[in-house]
Amino acid sequence: MNKTPSGQITIRGISGSPGICIGKAYLVDREGVNIIKRYPVSEDLVPKEIDRFKNAVIKAKNAHAKIIESLDQDLSENLNILETHMVLFKDKMLYGKTIETISQDKVNAEWALRKVSRTVRGMFEQVDDPYLRARVNDITQVSDKIMSFLVGAQDIQIRDINKRVIIVAHDLSPADTSQIQLERIKGFVTDRGGKDSHTSIVAKSLKIPSVLGLGSATNNVNNDDILIVDGSSGIIIINPEEDTLFRYEEKLARFQAYRADIERENHLPAITRDGVYLNLLANIELVEEVVSAKDNRAAGIGLFRTEFLYLDLNRFPTEDELLQKYKELVELMSPDPVTIRTLDINGDKFNPYIDPVEEANPALGLRAVRFCLENEGIFITQLKAILRAAAFGDIKLLIPMISCVEEIIQVRAVINKAIIELENEDKIFNKDIPLGIMIEVPSAVIMAEELADHVDFFSIGTNDLIQYSMAIDRRNRRVAHLYQSLSPAVLKLIRMTSEAAQKNGIDLFMCGEMAGDPINIPILLGLGLTNLSMNPASIPVIKKMIRSMDVVQARKDSEKLMNFKTTREISDFILEEYKTILPYREPEE
Ligand code: PEP
Ligand code: MG
Repeated sequence: MNKTPSGQITIRGISGSPGICIGKAYLVDREGVNIIKRYPVSEDLVPKEIDRFKNAVIKAKNAHAKIIESLDQDLSENLNILETHMVLFKDKMLYGKTIETISQDKVNAEWALRKVSRTVRGMFEQVDDPYLRARVNDITQVSDKIMSFLVGAQDIQIRDINKRVIIVAHDLSPADTSQIQLERIKGFVTDRGGKDSHTSIVAKSLKIPSVLGLGSATNNVNNDDILIVDGSSGIIIINPEEDTLFRYEEKLARFQAYRADIERENHLPAITRDGVYLNLLANIELVEEVVSAKDNRAAGIGLFRTEFLYLDLNRFPTEDELLQKYKELVELMSPDPVTIRTLDINGDKFNPYIDPVEEANPALGLRAVRFCLENEGIFITQLKAILRAAAFGDIKLLIPMISCVEEIIQVRAVINKAIIELENEDKIFNKDIPLGIMIEVPSAVIMAEELADHVDFFSIGTNDLIQYSMAIDRRNRRVAHLYQSLSPAVLKLIRMTSEAAQKNGIDLFMCGEMAGDPINIPILLGLGLTNLSMNPASIPVIKKMIRSMDVVQARKDSEKLMNFKTTREISDFILEEYKTILPYREPEE
């Protein structure tokens, strides 16, 4: 952190998504609830304050009861959690203690509730019993619910922010981020989050500048402070001096001109100078993003992350609800192909409604296909919806986090069960859809040849492949400097996967963020990748680059690059050899 005598503060974080914005700060805390202020309540107003609290509890309980009513019958597991919450609303420790604190400390209800819920959480966290420890989550959720009614829930959801502001938050979940209203929010910054975290992926797709991993942003920023967010360099400037503002206005204009230039040429095909055609596809999280995929002229959807619907609903969607979304997506994209990836829950997309067990190492836990195989009913519901949607367009089915051959055999068996159910129910569906797996765990690379016997395509997920092969938590900013796509180890894993796919005659895709970063393109082309799926916003930039490249040359270069021992040597070589075609970058300040 750097502070000038005039009060201008510069903080360096991690680039979330490129671009520059200048505007007023709007603070929200982690849960999307306005930061809680403490204020005194005079003796005579204490009963009124207690009533205000009781009213909020009643409203929160009623809203909760409605959610329970709307739940599908076969979700009894979920029902249990929700019913536990119902009891917690009136729990002595939370309810009784908050009322006591309001009258004893003579403070506002929000403050009292926050204080009590923290104390209760602290107590639970210290007990040995894992069941009781897991209840911490329930208490947080119940108290958040009450809190949102206390402060006026309707006004504080991220999707309801209606000023042209920059959001400053301790953390935003991918679900929070996906609620950002583009026309209103200029950009956002968070204390937490790392490169290629799901939050940053959603941010890139929204095309608004963001800086993550700032460590202490929310402590240094006040509501309405003027902020500059430089998402390209990963810095924020709080209360900039006039000179700084002026300089950034100019940078902003240059950035906009650069983007306009790239977009102007985007109608041209993604073909190299020596005539190799590349499939540039889009990664999306929401059906609404089809607009962005189409605007950026994606050749199809290479990765549809399906978990956000589950996270947004806070309950399991029904087969028909899923079908409706998937059908809408394929019909909008038709005749172009859509790859639907099955639920990749847990990891950094944890949601206690879906799985109440908080794990010590979520990235190594019951994530993605592991969760689906344990919860077969949920898996079958999704598979049936995908197979039914496949009757309306070109769909590929993609399974995340496969780490051994047994898992894909099990998956095939579950798909067969889904098919039998659909047949028995006389539903229209298409079972002849290509089945692929994400290659994102090192063991899957090692077993790539054996896995290739069971599937029609591979899709390399570099976000996780880097995380798991280099042992770097993709959300942890303290190790973000080690998270390098051009690490020789990562490149060797990609080469092994590409060779296995070629040898077995199956298609190869890449859908990790690596595919959308220009510096990686020469080596990816050289290693034989021609199907690249990325954030829609990256497509025009990558296309422009590809149109000035030569695959034969890229192959020669990649042979040289594969002999280098360090990331630095590899990136220096590419930066030098490809400097005329790599996109323009502002020099660092
Ligand atoms: C990946 O791991 O590279 C990937 C594309 O999947 P996700 O980012 O959703 O984990
Ligand atoms: Mg992944």
